[in-house]
Amino acid sequence: MIDKLLGSCHDVSQLLSKSMDTRLNWVERIQMRLHFRVCTYCLQFEDQLKQIRAAGRSFEACEFDLESSDDLSEDAKNRLRQVIRDECR
Ligand SMILES: [Zn+2]
Repeated sequence: MIDKLLGSCHDVSQLLSKSMDTRLNWVERIQMRLHFRVCTYCLQFEDQLKQIRAAGRSFEACEFDLESSDDLSEDAKNRLRQVIRDECR
């Protein structure tokens, strides 16, 4: 039950990506907040997404070094790559 409420890292990374484009509903927001309390990886992922957003279309965002982020799962890296591709178009 608690697992379902917290969601998986995969779920949360998708919610995070979605939250960059649209406002999440309250269930999704609570799920994310709860997940962040137990999962530092996703919390870091959110931070990195925010940094990329803040960087906007700047050169730094396009050069963001994912390979040095050993603490991110492959799934999270792929999500980040997608965001970077969108931002740098
Ligand atoms: Zn997680």
